Amino acid sequence: MIKKGRQLYEGKAKIVYEYKGDPNLVIQFFKDDATAFDGVKKGKIGNKGIINNSISTRLFRLLGEHGIATHFVDKISERDMLVKLVQIIPIEMIVRNIVAGSLSKRFGWDEGIVLKRPIVEVYYKSDPLHDPMLNDEHVMALELATEDELAYLRKTAREINEILCAFLEERDLVLVDMKLEFGKDAEGNILLADEISPDTCRYWDKKTGEKLDKDRFRRDLGKVEESYEEVYRRIFLESSR
Ligand code: UDP
Repeated sequence: MIKKGRQLYEGKAKIVYEYKGDPNLVIQFFKDDATAFDGVKKGKIGNKGIINNSISTRLFRLLGEHGIATHFVDKISERDMLVKLVQIIPIEMIVRNIVAGSLSKRFGWDEGIVLKRPIVEVYYKSDPLHDPMLNDEHVMALELATEDELAYLRKTAREINEILCAFLEERDLVLVDMKLEFGKDAEGNILLADEISPDTCRYWDKKTGEKLDKDRFRRDLGKVEESYEEVYRRIFLESSR
């Protein structure tokens, strides 16, 4: 029996519940709901919650094995993940290896250009402001993080990117870009939080370049569920090498 308590928060893709066993832990429940373009486009992706819980679990475990501090504790059911209670830092760290999405629009660059060095971008997590991009001075002025904390977020985001790129590459998946969120636990430790899934990353097939992520939903490309399932299949496949 899962010791699920009161609902604390409902987001677009997940619901957070109290965990009755320990006040320092909470449960993340993964929904099938999908949104895009600031919530303007709404829908459901069949079994997405189950797939994203499994994929996130696998990737958080992988990062933990590499010494990255995450909020992950355990996967306790198909759709429920037990995590450490954190105060989310209202910053989205975006790491990019290949040009796509908003980077392609901002500079008029073609999608698919491989960046010489990964780019880390910082955005303000604010729905009313539509998540504006921030530079370091904005982060300090808004008191979202200190200089040292921001340096840690940037360094950790790059490390996470390297670990995930290597793991996914062995499974014929190219990590194009991803969004990371961090939070602070009761002792003030900064932990990687949220999820790492086809909702929050772009994955392209290494051989064909086919998109296997939420862009299929955003752009009505079809085969949305199949693509999430394909990422799941490859992530749980043992490395081909
Ligand atoms: N992303 C996300 N949530 C957001 C914004 C972006 O998970 O609120 C992810 C997105 O799936 C992609 C990466 O971050 O993997 C970069 O997104 P981009 O800035 O290109 O914006 P988009 O094209 O999604 O509007």
